[in-house]
Amino acid sequence: MTDSVQGALARLEPFAAGVIAQQANNIDGSAVFPTHTVNALRQANLLGLITPTEHGGLGGTIFDAARVVERIAQECGTSAMVACMHYAGAAVLAAYGSAEANAEVARGEHLSTLAFSESGSRSHFWAPVSTAKRSEGDTVTLDARKSWVTSASHAHAYIWSSQSLDDPAASTIWLVQRGQEGLSIAGGFDGLGLRGNDSTPVSAEGVRIPAANQLGPDGGGFDVMMGTVLPAFQLMNAACSIGLMEGALRGAISHVSATRLEHMGASLRELPTLRSYLAQAHIQADSARALWLDTMAAAGSNRPDTMLRILQVKAAANEAALDVTATCMRVCGGAAYRKDLGVDRYFRDAQAGAVMAPTSDVLYDFVGKAICGMELF
Ligand SMILES: Cc1cc2nc3c(=O)[nH]c(=O)nc-3n(C[C@H](O)[C@H](O)[C@H](O)COP(=O)(O)OP(=O)(O)OC[C@H]3O[C@@H](n4cnc5c(N)ncnc54)[C@H](O)[C@@H]3O)c2cc1C
Repeated sequence: MTDSVQGALARLEPFAAGVIAQQANNIDGSAVFPTHTVNALRQANLLGLITPTEHGGLGGTIFDAARVVERIAQECGTSAMVACMHYAGAAVLAAYGSAEANAEVARGEHLSTLAFSESGSRSHFWAPVSTAKRSEGDTVTLDARKSWVTSASHAHAYIWSSQSLDDPAASTIWLVQRGQEGLSIAGGFDGLGLRGNDSTPVSAEGVRIPAANQLGPDGGGFDVMMGTVLPAFQLMNAACSIGLMEGALRGAISHVSATRLEHMGASLRELPTLRSYLAQAHIQADSARALWLDTMAAAGSNRPDTMLRILQVKAAANEAALDVTATCMRVCGGAAYRKDLGVDRYFRDAQAGAVMAPTSDVLYDFVGKAICGMELF
């Protein structure tokens, strides 16, 4: 761990173990957005964690952000997803955004998110069907049906994809302020898990934005999505799954240790079957974590297998989280069906990762192509 990671985690810890943990069941029950988590990140000076120092940020790496997301996910999946999407957006701003936008993030005034997925191209986020047209007065007009935008009603602005101005087969990325005329957010989020993450459809009808809000070159959206967003998102989404596995295992181990079979004078953990399940789940969680750490080591030293690891890490962690949290449910028996135990929350929160783009199925296709020496697209 670098000094910057240690510093970030040390500032986060009182909030993670405190208010974020305390509010997790409430957020799950009420599906309310975790404003307290955004406030905590602001107070800990972590919203600008990866924003360059010349704009007042901490200049941390995406690895630092992934560690922060993983720690939060141990307590509250919703909060971790909000942080994950913020850092994914902040990474784009750090690479392509204005000094002003980055300074807002550094001051904790700007919560970011991605508005990539669309009703038309669904999880194939790299192929937007929404449009951007040149308009008078150096503006651009956007029309879109975005299908899922985390923090939709709470983000200050969206990192937005569209077809390029000149070529429908290419894409361009924009900064779109929330509240812009012509933008509409469809109600709240009522999902199986990550219940407070406010991941809601957002549509744009004739939304006029300054042409200067373009992030990267026109037609360069694919490179921004694949070069900047994908590595960051893969690591941080995997971090969510790894943190969720940690939280679920912690809950299950504590339950089987504390719960007694009085007629046998034994605790549940004295049943070899349950210990075996827990052992297998722990091995699976640790294996996913080891791959995650190795991916960061590969990316940090420009190892030749970096891209392969980046493609693998999200699928490995997402799929492991499905298995591990299901095993934790089983180990806790009927008690896990009660919300007070909290294991069911990790199980439900873990379902999202594998269907978040790039989905596990798409990643298997990419990894398969990569190891067979084929082009991904
Ligand atoms: C909680 C949550 C938060 C989200 N937040 C955001 C956000 O902030 N910003 C954002 O842009 N998006 C966000 N998304 C959207 C997400 O990234 C995916 O785009 C979305 O989950 C895909 O759902 P879909 O119904 O459109 O899937 P579909 O694309 O309809 O896929 C259906 C099934 O087909 C499979 N499939 C699709 N293509 C292929 C293929 N080529 N090969 C093999 N199998 C394939 C998929 O794996 C899936 O199982 C979020 C999603 C969730 C669940």
